[in-house]
Amino acid sequence: EQEQAAIEAELPAVTVDGRTVAVLVNVGTVHDALAVRGADGSGLVRTELLFGERRTAPTVAEQVEAFRAVAAALPGKPITIRTWDVGGDKPLPFLPQDHEDNPFLGERGLRAFRRQPELLRDQLEAVRQIAAEIPVHVMFPMVTTADEVAWALDELGPRPDGLKVGIMIEVPAAALRVATLTPDLDFVSIGTNDLTQYVTATDRTNPAVAALADGLDPAVLQLVDHVVRNAGVPVGVCGDLASNPQAAVILAALGVHELSAIAPQVPLVKARLREADLRLIDTAAVLAARDGDQVRGLL
Ligand code: PEP
Ligand code: MG
Repeated sequence: EQEQAAIEAELPAVTVDGRTVAVLVNVGTVHDALAVRGADGSGLVRTELLFGERRTAPTVAEQVEAFRAVAAALPGKPITIRTWDVGGDKPLPFLPQDHEDNPFLGERGLRAFRRQPELLRDQLEAVRQIAAEIPVHVMFPMVTTADEVAWALDELGPRPDGLKVGIMIEVPAAALRVATLTPDLDFVSIGTNDLTQYVTATDRTNPAVAALADGLDPAVLQLVDHVVRNAGVPVGVCGDLASNPQAAVILAALGVHELSAIAPQVPLVKARLREADLRLIDTAAVLAARDGDQVRGLL
């Protein structure tokens, strides 16, 4: 029976109505990739966590080696390397940043590298090198404008064969104008943690407002729906919402192609999707609901 469960975990998640939803794993340490069962790859490698213990910047070779170790734990499956997502609640010891009164609204993610691009350039060199060995996706965090996409693609330079390039959608403006951001991209991945923070104006680290920061708030789901309809490329979700099996069904019903969850949730999300008939989810009612509780009640 255990063997049966292990075999089933490795199968793709296909819903009752025949939709295949890729379920991948979020990786902050190599252990996450080693511990997971049944992941279809990694939909998010948080590089600022992978190297977060270091006091000095990793070399290109050290980064290639770390990406190789993550990939080796998920043999034959793609890994999605997110470029340094520094700032906000995530300082990087080897990237000096000025004090900011509102760091979540400041030089976060891709923004932090416009004035000091060297670290990003090294990372993109490591991405190009590992992409010659294994299936790799690269994505840029905290993108707001088409100009930032153009700048990031310029920094990446010529793309090796097989390297897929995307951005995270976690700023409301990027969600609303997603169609203008994607002409030169292969995919987008919605970061529901930050998207929820910015849509509901609730600091994601402040427990006093945690109840307002509900990823199933219909205001967040309306943006997810808008992104799916307008992106023109495959859409993933790699925020924590994708780790919740109930929410995973709603995201799949809204047309999200790929979910990336924390390691222990991957088999549970897959199992819930296999039981789900997406035709029975009233997405119009979900999007028109008054709050997240009403969305949960609809399931
Ligand atoms: C997100 O914002 O949803 C996300 C996946 O990125 P992080 O949690 O690392 O900011
Ligand atoms: Mg984020």
